[in-house]
Amino acid sequence: MTDNKGIFTLSLDTELAWGMFDKDNVGDYENAYRNTPDVVDHLCNMFDEYDISATWAIVSHLLMDCDKAHTDRTSPNFEWIDDWFAELPCVNGFDDVLWFAPWLIDRLQACETAQEIGLHGSTHMQLGADGCSRQHAEEEIDVAVKTLREHGLEPKSFVFPRNDVGHVDVLREHGIKVYRGRDAYWYERASVPNIIKPPCRFVDEAVRGTPPVTEPIEHNGILEIPGSQTFRPSHDGWQYTPGECSVERAKKGLERAARTGKTFHLWFHPFNLGHSPEKDCHRLERILMIVDELVREDLIKCVPMGEYSE
Ligand SMILES: [Zn+2]
Ligand SMILES: [Zn+2]
Repeated sequence: MTDNKGIFTLSLDTELAWGMFDKDNVGDYENAYRNTPDVVDHLCNMFDEYDISATWAIVSHLLMDCDKAHTDRTSPNFEWIDDWFAELPCVNGFDDVLWFAPWLIDRLQACETAQEIGLHGSTHMQLGADGCSRQHAEEEIDVAVKTLREHGLEPKSFVFPRNDVGHVDVLREHGIKVYRGRDAYWYERASVPNIIKPPCRFVDEAVRGTPPVTEPIEHNGILEIPGSQTFRPSHDGWQYTPGECSVERAKKGLERAARTGKTFHLWFHPFNLGHSPEKDCHRLERILMIVDELVREDLIKCVPMGEYSE
């Protein structure tokens, strides 16, 4: 990475019901989860068409056909859930399609444009939250890395569930080289109260604010690539900002990356596109077309997270 082209990085938090089971609102997203296999298929086709290598940060339990109670692991002491391992989607009687995706790796590996497979935990445990000890983190990461290894994969990249960064040294000890940091806005810092964040995000989107571009930050042998923009879904209130905003913001971010030689890091969850798949995939495609154009003009290149470590 010695030339000074801008960089486009795309990371995808791939989780189905693992992302919400502890907040007790899986029902709000169930329809989108059920549409996720189609969304993933559509994403893969678009990534082939526009030659995009994305980083798929997956919850590794998506790959495990599970009939056990997970009594071998101890639950973290989170204030919002009584007993983590007693309430997992695989234990709690959820429909398999909401938490089990045995087709996922094959589909990603069938892409013509290589896709990177990284991790988003083994059960989506919030590693930076109070109540998650080093031992909880070690078990969570150890199972995740082992599961991918069973599929012949050596994960290098990690996305923290809820972007809650913690126990980075445990990642490093398990061979992870790169993680996504929080989005690089003042209001996304951990020290800013959570209640302030949503209105700030909404305003930035509505005024089509230019997203930040960044450079990797090294933390004793592991690299942080901060986020630049969350590609907004068509639910949870975001449907009230014009869909145009997300495309225009990404365009500004990409042009800024091209100008400065820095990284524009876009991210979202595949299920986010599952509420209005056609409309949202089309909106994303317009961003990928801009990427494609800038790549052809030799102004940016598309780099998955793991490649930063090379
Ligand atoms: Zn299980
Ligand atoms: Zn997540």
